[in-house]
Amino acid sequence: MLHKGYSTMTTIADLLTAWALGSFAPVALLINHTVFYPDITYGYSGSGDSTTARINNVIYHELAHASHHQLVRDPTWDRIRFHVVANSIFSGDVYGFPGNFALIGSDPQFTAVAEGWAHHYGDVLAGNPLLEGRRFRNGFVPWGLGLDLSDQRRLGDLSGYDDNVCCFTDGQYFSSLPLTITMQQLRNRYLNVHINTTSNTPAQINNLFDNYNF
Ligand SMILES: [Zn+2]
Repeated sequence: MLHKGYSTMTTIADLLTAWALGSFAPVALLINHTVFYPDITYGYSGSGDSTTARINNVIYHELAHASHHQLVRDPTWDRIRFHVVANSIFSGDVYGFPGNFALIGSDPQFTAVAEGWAHHYGDVLAGNPLLEGRRFRNGFVPWGLGLDLSDQRRLGDLSGYDDNVCCFTDGQYFSSLPLTITMQQLRNRYLNVHINTTSNTPAQINNLFDNYNF
């Protein structure tokens, strides 16, 4: 996740105040996010090793976030900012899990949109193998969606769901992100705009996105 913005915070009370006020939060709430997290994190992993490959992955993942942030800016980005901080505090996991998200500050829809893009395109930029059939991270981040939208159709294999969609581009994925706050809005972009560039049907697109519901 990327932390960058003007509405910085130093205390849990600041976080909760900003969340409660939403778009009415005063810009005067100028405190510092970095008390919670730096902008981009690429430290040692849980195993104590920070390999070149891991740093490569993290940097490209964060750059994918940075490009997305440039499209939507603040305060939209506060949705994932607050989600990550709230769920870190609540469960110790930055993303949290469906059915157990922090009660205040969570925004799993926008987090799914943002982390789905960064997990997919970070892998593309890093040159990682794109693993067919990899579906979610934490049960809701649609890690495999970008690959399923772009690669060949895949029916009846052992991954547990059909991917009967092909041929969309990462450029189309990226161009879907402005004004997209929820997974339904992302789906609508493919149904209403991008579909005309491919042979996919609305039913096929809906079936694929249904696999990524949470
Ligand atoms: Zn991320």
